[in-house]
Amino acid sequence: MILDLFKLDGKVAVVTGANTGLGQGMAVALAEAGAKVVGVGRRSCAETKEKIEAFGGSFTEVLADLSTTAAVDTVLSGALDAYGRVDILVNNAGIIKRCDAVDVTEADWDTVIDINEKVVFFLSQAFAKQYIKQQDGGKIINVASMLSYQGGIRVPSYTASKSAIMGLTKALANEWAKYNINVNAIAPGYMATNNTAQLRSDDDRSDEILSRIPAGRWGTPEDMQGAVVWLASKASDYVNGYTVAVDGGWLAR
Ligand code: NAP
Repeated sequence: MILDLFKLDGKVAVVTGANTGLGQGMAVALAEAGAKVVGVGRRSCAETKEKIEAFGGSFTEVLADLSTTAAVDTVLSGALDAYGRVDILVNNAGIIKRCDAVDVTEADWDTVIDINEKVVFFLSQAFAKQYIKQQDGGKIINVASMLSYQGGIRVPSYTASKSAIMGLTKALANEWAKYNINVNAIAPGYMATNNTAQLRSDDDRSDEILSRIPAGRWGTPEDMQGAVVWLASKASDYVNGYTVAVDGGWLAR
């Protein structure tokens, strides 16, 4: 039956940046669909754990700072220690630095690129190796952005990193589809989380953005849930290298 294809019973899902925002929303959804969830955060994911355990779901936290590749081993071995295998990786953790392009420092550029792009690649590589070893396929879901398609304003390092994510999603999908590894991405539109707190507190920018969203509202972590469960499940086994926009129609405008 079709709805059975969306079930994640017996699967282990790792979500980076699971303590808050979109990562928390996706972690809860994957657990509701039946997956055991490993939440990765540089600080406690206690709130996410509480939400998941409230409905009898299984959640383990792995503390890791994803600003360097030193975290890669910590994340994979933490997940394997907890549940013995991995099936789904959601590369959600990310940062944004707003600054005029003429003023961006090299240190700030590197910080954004390292977290949003470099560590995402090496974490995906480590998971792909493990999936190949397990001989049972696997799912990698990256979090892209409207700035994977557009230039944005005062966020050049973020735009560079999220454009790279969409390219990387295609590149890795091409190489790993033969191992039954699906690499796809979700491109959220403008969502009400910490990431957009600064934008939403600027009345002019906030009005400007809201008036361009056909759905007429900012997105929420819950809006990510259907797409992430689909891309994590058997229901998307023939979807490779695709970026799904969850944007209230922003790109259609
Ligand atoms: P958020 O609330 O700021 O969440 C970002 C997450 O990444 C947090 O859990 C954060 O941890 C974590 N993180 C950042 N740096 C980290 C590090 N060095 N090590 C470990 N974790 C780190 O914003 P969000 O909107 O939910 O963002 C989630 C993803 O969606 C990001 O990739 C973002 O770029 C993307 N996105 C968001 C929007 C939007 O409109 N909100 C739109 C498009 C794409 P802390 O809580 O400790 O900082």
